[in-house]
Amino acid sequence: MNSSNETAAKNGTPAVRFENVVKRFGDLEVLKGLNFSVQPGERVTLIGPSGSGKTTILRLLMTLEKITDGVIYVEGEPLSHMKRGEKLVTANESHLREVRKKIGMVFQQFNLFPNMKVLRNITEAPVHTLGKSKDEAVAKAKELLDLVGLADKADNYPSQLSGGQQQRVAIARSLAMNPDILLLDEVTSALDPELVADVLDLLKDIATTTDITMLIVTHEMGFARDVSHRVMMFDQGVIVEDGPPSQVMGDPEHERTRAFLKAVL
Ligand code: ADP
Repeated sequence: MNSSNETAAKNGTPAVRFENVVKRFGDLEVLKGLNFSVQPGERVTLIGPSGSGKTTILRLLMTLEKITDGVIYVEGEPLSHMKRGEKLVTANESHLREVRKKIGMVFQQFNLFPNMKVLRNITEAPVHTLGKSKDEAVAKAKELLDLVGLADKADNYPSQLSGGQQQRVAIARSLAMNPDILLLDEVTSALDPELVADVLDLLKDIATTTDITMLIVTHEMGFARDVSHRVMMFDQGVIVEDGPPSQVMGDPEHERTRAFLKAVL
């Protein structure tokens, strides 16, 4: 467990808390007043039909989108907006930068920098955002490349790697920032089927050997069952069901959950 997770766990502060979070895109209300908390070290998988708002939740946490109403807290700090009276106020940029450093995100489409070699993809943010020395960042990047099984690809460009290898580099890149919270957004959806297992096995390893808090959006139900402490089922911007995988996936209470699982399994 890294130090700020330890601090958060000790004083009982959730890693993530959504309080009456509403998100609208124009007239479309995508999240309808969401309330939930995720504890430090907890691994939560978000499931539900396409369009139910799962990716939006991760993007709000990354401050890639702005909420319409409510408050999101990361380790007790209001993230993007806080409510004073009736007014939504944007937290200032330097505060946001600090909070963002606690969160890593891995996307469906890898999003590696195509013009940088693999090693530099991993060292770039630790050097420029965390202010680490180049030597320290390179040593850590090599360690992470070893962890993801790509020690021999440090000097390759992303385009020279398979999709599965690129995704493993993206995972190493997010871990290089030493995040407390890792957001995984359908990270195997863009991969050829034969490359999926390697990436899921790596994520299972990371899940079981670290205490990183994880919010996972995936259609890989076996993986979700193996790694999650908790599964939240969403439909049309509300939480339909929330509990351990054995219950939500093994013995769902709600018809909507049963219908969803029947369609994906
Ligand atoms: P999920 O991840 O569950 O498939 P999303 O969070 O991606 O769902 O999307 C929820 C809804 O919000 C969808 O109807 C989607 O079309 C809409 N949406 C997402 N992003 C935008 C955007 N930038 N502009 C307009 N609508 C959006």
